[in-house]
Amino acid sequence: MTVPSVVIIGAGVVGAALADELSARGWTDVTVVDQGDVPATGGSSSHAPGLVFQINGSKTMTEMARYTVEKFVELDSFHQVGGLEVATTPKRLAELHRRHGWATAWGIETHLLTPEECAARHSLLDAGKVLGGLHIPTDGLAKAVKAVDAQLTRARERGVRVLARHEVLDVRTEGGRVAAVVTDQGEIPADIVVCCAGIWGPRVARMVGMNLPLTPLAHQLAWTGQVPGLAGQTVECSRPILRHQDADLYFRERFDTLGIGYYGHRPMPISADDILSVDEAEVMPSVLTFTPDDFAEAWSETQELLPSTRSAKVEEGINGLFSFTTDHLPLMGESPDVKGFWVAEAVWVTHSAGVGRAMAEWLVDGHCTTFDLHECDVNRFEPHQVAPDYVLARGCQNYVEVYDIIHPLQPMREPRPLRTSPFHPRQQELSAAFLEASGWERPQWYAANAPLLSGRDIPTPGDWAARYWSPIVGAEAQATREGVAMYDMTALKRLEVSGPGAVAFLQRLTTGDVDKSIGSVTYCLLLDHDGGIRSDVTVARLGAQEFQVGANGNLDLDWMERHRPADVFVRDITAGTCCVGVWGPKARDLVQPLTDIDLTALRYFRGARGYIGNVPVTMLRLSYVGELGWEIYTTSDMGLKLWDTLWEAGRDHGVIAAGRGAFTSLRLEKGYRSFGTDMTFEHDPYEAGLGFAVKLDKGDFIGREALLARKESVTRRLTCLLTDEVVMGKEPVYDGERPVGYVTSAAYGYTIGKGVAYAWLPASLADPGQAVQIGYFDRRVDAVVAEEPLFDPAMTRLRG
Ligand SMILES: Cc1cc2nc3c(=O)[nH]c(=O)nc-3n(C[C@H](O)[C@H](O)[C@H](O)COP(=O)(O)OP(=O)(O)OC[C@H]3O[C@@H](n4cnc5c(N)ncnc54)[C@H](O)[C@@H]3O)c2cc1C
Repeated sequence: MTVPSVVIIGAGVVGAALADELSARGWTDVTVVDQGDVPATGGSSSHAPGLVFQINGSKTMTEMARYTVEKFVELDSFHQVGGLEVATTPKRLAELHRRHGWATAWGIETHLLTPEECAARHSLLDAGKVLGGLHIPTDGLAKAVKAVDAQLTRARERGVRVLARHEVLDVRTEGGRVAAVVTDQGEIPADIVVCCAGIWGPRVARMVGMNLPLTPLAHQLAWTGQVPGLAGQTVECSRPILRHQDADLYFRERFDTLGIGYYGHRPMPISADDILSVDEAEVMPSVLTFTPDDFAEAWSETQELLPSTRSAKVEEGINGLFSFTTDHLPLMGESPDVKGFWVAEAVWVTHSAGVGRAMAEWLVDGHCTTFDLHECDVNRFEPHQVAPDYVLARGCQNYVEVYDIIHPLQPMREPRPLRTSPFHPRQQELSAAFLEASGWERPQWYAANAPLLSGRDIPTPGDWAARYWSPIVGAEAQATREGVAMYDMTALKRLEVSGPGAVAFLQRLTTGDVDKSIGSVTYCLLLDHDGGIRSDVTVARLGAQEFQVGANGNLDLDWMERHRPADVFVRDITAGTCCVGVWGPKARDLVQPLTDIDLTALRYFRGARGYIGNVPVTMLRLSYVGELGWEIYTTSDMGLKLWDTLWEAGRDHGVIAAGRGAFTSLRLEKGYRSFGTDMTFEHDPYEAGLGFAVKLDKGDFIGREALLARKESVTRRLTCLLTDEVVMGKEPVYDGERPVGYVTSAAYGYTIGKGVAYAWLPASLADPGQAVQIGYFDRRVDAVVAEEPLFDPAMTRLRG
């Protein structure tokens, strides 16, 4: 492709970053259009107070923030005054330790401070009110409009056109591709259009029929008059930017006054269609009138924490609009339906330069190597997750929860229930404790299994790991290894790939050799062109031209759709089907009498179609828990019958229903990786311990060439650790005092009687026997690298 012509809609901090990054890579046929004046357009960037707190539970978001800081410093658009997050409750203090752990894991320097040290850093603080703090020396204040200006200036110097006061009215498409952007001042031809329209995003995306799951919400920002403690200050800011998450507040200085941002008020969503135009708006389109009543509590909490404000007044304020999504993460990528229409939406100033870089790499190179974007891809959502009601409810909830302490297993409260498997009524009868996965109600354990606890000594983990947990989890795990258990696997994404070109297509898309006999099942990977893992999949050949692919999520479907030739059909069959895993040493005793399939002849990693009682089924002999058994699929209408048939027959064999808690424990004992947690786009199969799933000699496939180089340069490894205490994931790992990696998945292994944690470590520290430590809140947990898998390395259970 010759260098394409690009139109960027929106000259906010995101559009400007993208223009700069694209032009730096030689793409200079770029036009940035904005309905407002440039650089202060009237969008969210024009009034953002610009606090950049880098720490985030997401590694990607933290890395994007770090890049933004580095770039803004270089552009002289950043006051690097540091950041300070304070705790006024013991729970928050523990959370600050957790955040210190994330920072350390993702490579950002942070320091935990005593109350006195907090007050020494920020003299307005009442040390008596805080229990401690987290100091991030590289945080600070971004000058968003200045950064817009600096990036657009650089881009202009390279040939980029910036058109202020051009309102985009439509995006014209031809043959499923973008062709031009229609503005109130004429048409601009385009091969690629990138929507960086912020809160207007849904309106612009709709021009090409795209439903962008984003909610603009009003957020209160107030400014005080002079604060005595700041009197005489002649620099804009000198103290760290400050967060008081217990009261949903943040603060920044502006000379001798203070800016106060507040997330504690009622959610105030607005439709993108109701935002006023540049000329209609009194101040600017993204600014609504301040509602003082909503700010009352914020002001009294401010005065509590910062006594010097007691004699000051709130002098001005805004209800400023910015974007929220259903999962707190941005929306990046290309429309699934209209080629050349891209979005970079729901991005904070904090991450803007990182997002600009990521988008530029993606557009220019076809993939992003600097950041792992699997959490940010706009195509990640299940169909129900873009329903307007869902988007609004989740957007509002996420606004309220911005500063809340969220447990890794905490399910969304509303809207629930959304998706229920056919087994749901029986699971309710067994008093399942449901969590939520991609909208599915998924049992974590079953209270009806409480009698299994008798005679077992299930260790209780520490307070944090004991949330969304019951000792029954341990009993279910052990009972699976002893007898037989039924696991609802319906939430697992299933795709049907069929058609004359199906074999060639899957050979090209996956790392495995799937051109095997009918009934074969192949565990393999989808790679990106740079050799990074996009997903791990099981490909079952059910016919000459028919495959069932066990996948991880909607991105797999999207990836396949983008690559499929005309003679291949890809269909998401998840919703119309269901799956129960029947696993354990007694699984064959339970299932064989019910089916016409010879289960002894059906070897490990083979599949067959047949019947269980009256129920037509597809059975795949696979097991993530490392026990004999099958994933048994049928259509949703027959699901309940399938469950009941197995359950009834299982009584004689002591069958239990078991939940996801047990599943995770058993999975880790067997060393089975989970995409998105253990490995992501940034990792290659060799580092992740999945080299066995790559058949380099089968012919060409996407990512093969890049892999050949990566194979020889493995410097880090996904490593199995044994611990005495259960951790939860994302904790830093130390070699002495040196942070060397981070935990991915973790659980207690109820068979082996030890805590298990998988972690990314330098290859030099990944040999069995190596002692390391895991940073867990305010403690260090000893860990030792173990040979894997921890359970049944000879695979006698699975092949038995
Ligand atoms: C009160 C408040 C405080 C905030 N504080 C912080 C903070 O401290 N730290 C932080 O990181 N973030 C903060 N944010 C969030 C941050 O401001 C935004 O997320 C960010 O500025 C969004 O940048 P953007 O480029 O995506 O959007 P915008 O800056 O809104 O840019 C989008 C542009 O698209 C243009 N546009 C839209 N539709 C059209 C059209 N049809 N034709 C032509 N042009 C169009 C608009 O005119 C606008 O200029 C805050 C937000 C608010 C409201």
